Amino acid sequence: MPELQSCARLLVEWFRRHARVLPWREGAYNPYKILVSEFMLQQTQVGTVIPYFERWMARWPDLNSLAAADEPEALKLWEGLGYYSRCRNLLKAARAMVKAGYTCPPASVEELHAFPGVGGYTAGAIASIGYDLPVPAVDGNVERVISRLLSIEEPSGSAALRHKVAEAVSAMLDGVSPREFNQALMDLGAMVCTPSRGGVPFCGECPWEKSCRAHETGRERELPLPRQRAPISQEDAWGFLAVSPSQEGLLLHHRSNKGLWADMWEIPWFTRNGEFWEDFDAWRRSYGLELQLDRDSLREVGGTSFSFTTHHVRAWVVVCTIKNMPMGEEWGMFKFNEIDNLSLPAPSRKFLSCLKEEK
Ligand code: SF4
Repeated sequence: MPELQSCARLLVEWFRRHARVLPWREGAYNPYKILVSEFMLQQTQVGTVIPYFERWMARWPDLNSLAAADEPEALKLWEGLGYYSRCRNLLKAARAMVKAGYTCPPASVEELHAFPGVGGYTAGAIASIGYDLPVPAVDGNVERVISRLLSIEEPSGSAALRHKVAEAVSAMLDGVSPREFNQALMDLGAMVCTPSRGGVPFCGECPWEKSCRAHETGRERELPLPRQRAPISQEDAWGFLAVSPSQEGLLLHHRSNKGLWADMWEIPWFTRNGEFWEDFDAWRRSYGLELQLDRDSLREVGGTSFSFTTHHVRAWVVVCTIKNMPMGEEWGMFKFNEIDNLSLPAPSRKFLSCLKEEK
C-alpha cells in the first residue's frame, strides 16, 4: 500500500509546478469565489464555466451583492450552463448566509452544509480551498484518482467508494496545505489521471507513477469500477408550438416550483403515442385545459431529441394556431422577442430551433 503522506507531499510539489491558471485562484483566496465557482462547476467543464464565472463576478462581486440580485437576471446570466436549480440554490444560499449575518460563506462544513445546494463536496471545497482547513472534498474526479492510486474495487458513485476515498484523503491532508492538496487532486484528475473513455491516463506524467497500485498492475483503465446505472427509458413526445392567431406570440407553460426545470416557462410537450389529435386531447384533458386549435393550421416543423435524468425523449415538433387563450396562471402568451430574453429549458430551445430552421 502506498505511503499516503509521502504521496500527498509529492502531489503538492507537482501542483506548485503545474497548477491550472483559473480566475477563482487569482489573488488572495476568496471563499465567495470558491462558492460561485463550485456551484458552476457541478456537472460542467472548467472551460465552459470560466466566461460565466467572469461575467458573474463583474455583476455580483461579493456575497452581499449576490444576495440582493434579481432571480430572472441571474437565470439569464446562467443560461447555457444548464441545471438551473444550481443558480436558484446559489441565490438562496447567498441570501440565507447574508440573513444569518455572514458577509462571506462561513468556514464550518456543518454550517455550509445547511445552506441550499451546498452538498458535502461543495462544503469541503469551500472550507479547504477558501479557508485552508483539513477537510476532504471528494467528487467523481477525486474518486477516480484515489481509487486508482489505492486500487479500490468499488463502483463509481457508490457510497462505499465515496467513504473509502474520503478516509484516504483525510489521512493524506495531515502535513500538507489542504488548500493546495485538494486543488492538486482536482488538477491531477483533470489533466493527468483522466477518465478512461477516449484514452488512457497519462501515468508517465504523474507524480504517483511509482506508487500507484492501478498503474503497477496495469488496471488504470478498469478503475474505478463502472457505475451501477438505473435503466434509461425511451419516450416519444410532441413538442407543441402553439402560436397566437396574429402569429406574433407563443403559448408557454409555467412549470411548478418543484423538480427539474422548476419555476421555468417552457414550450409545452407531451407524450406521443400515435396520432397528434388523440394525444393532444389526452394531454389537454390531463390539465383540464380549455384550448381550441385551428386544426387546418397544424404542421410538423422538424424533430429533435433530449435527455434528462434517466429519460431519453425523441420529439416531433409541430406548430398550430390557437383560437383562444387558456385560463390559469400557469399559461402565458409571449411575443417571440420576449421569449429570446427568457431562460428556457433546453428542450424548449430545441423546439424553437426547429421553427427557426424551417423559416
Ligand atoms: Fe492515475 Fe496513472 Fe497517476 Fe495512477 S499513475 S494516479 S492511474 S495517472
